[in-house]
Order: sequence, then C-alpha cells, then structure tokens
Amino acid sequence: MSIALRLFALIVTLILSISANALNKQSGLTDNIEDPFRLFVLFHDDVPESKRSTVYVEHIRPFTAEFEKITGRQISVVFDRSRPPYTNFNYKAEDHKAMFERWKKLTWTYRAERHDSNEFLFSRNDRILLITNDFINGSPLFGGTGGIATQPGNSAIASLDYKQIVGHELGHSFNAIHEDGEVLYNGWWCETFMFEPLPFRSNCYVFSEANKKHIKAYVDSQS
Ligand SMILES: [Zn+2]
Repeated sequence: MSIALRLFALIVTLILSISANALNKQSGLTDNIEDPFRLFVLFHDDVPESKRSTVYVEHIRPFTAEFEKITGRQISVVFDRSRPPYTNFNYKAEDHKAMFERWKKLTWTYRAERHDSNEFLFSRNDRILLITNDFINGSPLFGGTGGIATQPGNSAIASLDYKQIVGHELGHSFNAIHEDGEVLYNGWWCETFMFEPLPFRSNCYVFSEANKKHIKAYVDSQS
C-alpha cells in the first residue's frame, strides 16, 4: 500500500471512530472550544474512485499544513461521499453566482443535518468543500471557473483540475485575496495560492506574507 493510501485509510478510520464516539455520547455533543475548525470535504459523485485516494495528500494537506502554520490552530478534515442532495449537486453552470447561492443554502442544511444526527456541533468555523472532477464552466485549457468560495465564509467548491484550486478557494473562505497573491522566486518562479495561475509556473503551496496576515487576523477575530 502506498503512503498516500495508508494515510487516507488512517484518516477514514479516524473519522469513523470519531463518528462512532460522537454517536455513543449520551449527553449531547461536545467540541474543542480552542480548535473548532472543521473542514468537511464532500466528493462529488463524478470524481472517479481512482482520484479520491490522492486528494488528501495532493490537494487538502498542502492547504491545512499552511493554515495550521499560519494560525497555530488545528483544522480537522472530515470526508464524505454518496450523500444526495449534496454529492450529486448540479455544479456545472454558466451563471456560477446563481449556482453558488444554491450551494450555500445546501451547505447550511448539511451542517444542520450532521448536527441533528448527533455527529458534529454546528460551528461558524466549519468549511464545507465540494470537490468536483470538472470545472464549473469552461475548461482548464480554454479558461473558465475552476472553483468558487465565500469571501469569507463557510462554503466552497473546487475542481481537481489544478492542485492549487482547493487551497485557493479555502484561502478565500478565510479572507485571503487575489490582490495580495505573489510570484516568489526560489531558483524557479512559483505562485502563491491566491495568484491567478499562469502556464509554466509552478505553485509554491504557500500564501504570501500579506495573505498570511489576512488569514491570521480573520481567524483570530472568530475566536
Ligand atoms: Zn479566486
């Protein structure tokens, strides 16, 4: 088993045991007051099984590692799948703003549902991320919309087409902005998460110093 698969299996096991513990509790839900950041990652039904096992290591972990370094706070990742009407949500739309309004309403319902089924407390720091196989509109080759998120807020959608889209959209959800995206040089040029991607440059999987400040200030204001 590869390291990626082992990690993924470990995470799934952890999540299952956390859910089981939550369900076993008689006296209601509890949460860690100091670290209530929770990222629900919902695989859209169109993401093939073969791509799912590497999503944590290649798309999620670069963001959560950077987030934890910047804020000194932990963020727990909870994966979910095959759960209509969320994982079969019709995310492909020319009018991505109208589509996203529908997703925002659904993310509210999702959090309420998991709270009501006694699994997780409803927290304003939760992030609900829909991982999709394709762009919302257009294509990676000819341009289009690969992701969208609240600025700042709980809801996000990110395509797997580029590895930095998850970090970019979650960055928006924690108040990072395009204007402070940067190109860094460390022997080769790389783009920080919030820089609009250009061909032939790699991604640094970090936020610029200015965006680190935005994220830290936002997170501290939520405490
Ligand atoms: Zn953006």
